[in-house]
Amino acid sequence: MPEQKDGMSRYQWLLPFALILALAAIFIANHIFFPPPILLVQDRRQMMDTWVEITVYDRNLQAAEAAIDAAFSRMEEIERIASIHDERAEAFRLNERGRLDDPSPELVEIIEAAKGYYALTAGTFDITVEPLLALWRHREGAKVQFWELDPADQQGPLDEALALVGADRIRLILDPHRAIVLEPGMKITLGGIAKGYIVDQGLLALRKAGIAHAMIDAGGDIGVFGGKPTGEKWVLALRDPADHKAFLVRFQLADGAVATSGNYERYFDREAKVGHIIDPRTGRSSRASSSASVIAGTAMKADALATAVFVLGPDAGIALVNAIPGVEALIVGYEDPQQVHRSVGLEGFTQESGDSK
Ligand code: AMP
Ligand code: MG
Repeated sequence: MPEQKDGMSRYQWLLPFALILALAAIFIANHIFFPPPILLVQDRRQMMDTWVEITVYDRNLQAAEAAIDAAFSRMEEIERIASIHDERAEAFRLNERGRLDDPSPELVEIIEAAKGYYALTAGTFDITVEPLLALWRHREGAKVQFWELDPADQQGPLDEALALVGADRIRLILDPHRAIVLEPGMKITLGGIAKGYIVDQGLLALRKAGIAHAMIDAGGDIGVFGGKPTGEKWVLALRDPADHKAFLVRFQLADGAVATSGNYERYFDREAKVGHIIDPRTGRSSRASSSASVIAGTAMKADALATAVFVLGPDAGIALVNAIPGVEALIVGYEDPQQVHRSVGLEGFTQESGDSK
């Protein structure tokens, strides 16, 4: 009998470990056979003059909320770099002084990409159109707005501003000391590309936080990854420029981005039809399209190309997009808004139109 008791006590110390092991096994088995449900977690914040909405699917509510917070923080961080209205922003300081030393890698990345899109789009995407935008902008208290002038009287100031336009003239010095240099009088606007870059960086922050299915919608610029947990694609509805309540088309994407440039979104003057998108070849607001949507691998690419394609209009815009692999476009003409122009491979990304999301 004493011998048997010794045998028992020899293994008694194992008991707590065995208990923990058993509990862990039950916990893991429980998660495998009865996983917590997949939740749709969504949040919205006002940023970049628009509402930015993040949607993710995840089983862990706290982790999803923390990931969304991290993504918003990252996006706000870049907004504070790329703004030309905020005095503390790098882009603002670059415009003020014509030179920025030690720029952030983010600003260098945006400007480097913008120079690339300038070259790719025959100069129709050009971040140096700011002197032209400054002419067309509404002037508080002014007796006459620029668009009210006779076209002949507009031409002098337009020519002066046009002489300051050309993204190929932005110098990016990377070695040995990093700096961005503009020619005297030149000014940039990142309104046609930064939103896309910010969406991409928000998505990256979500991925880094362990999210597997996400969508960021920044009012016209939308990026997604991972599809939906069901294996379905994300559905991104495009509003009809001719009828705000209706949807023209629904894009379907698992991974990638769609950006839309539309003159129905932003006008300097709606009556005079002076839109925010400038044709850098004429200095005047572009009337080639009423809406241009581009699908691309990244939101920055989609954003920049949507602006360019809007300026190029249906024929040249579709031709450009057809020549770029992995990029598709849908352009609604200016004169005839019923006329919808599609790139060759667009069909693979669209659903039938409807009137609700
Ligand atoms: P988006 O909605 O992406 O087409 O961007 C429109 C904004 O881009 C405008 O509000 C301007 O800040 C800027 N922009 C206007 N015209 C151009 C252009 N031709 N190339 C690049 N950016 C432009
Ligand atoms: Mg754009």
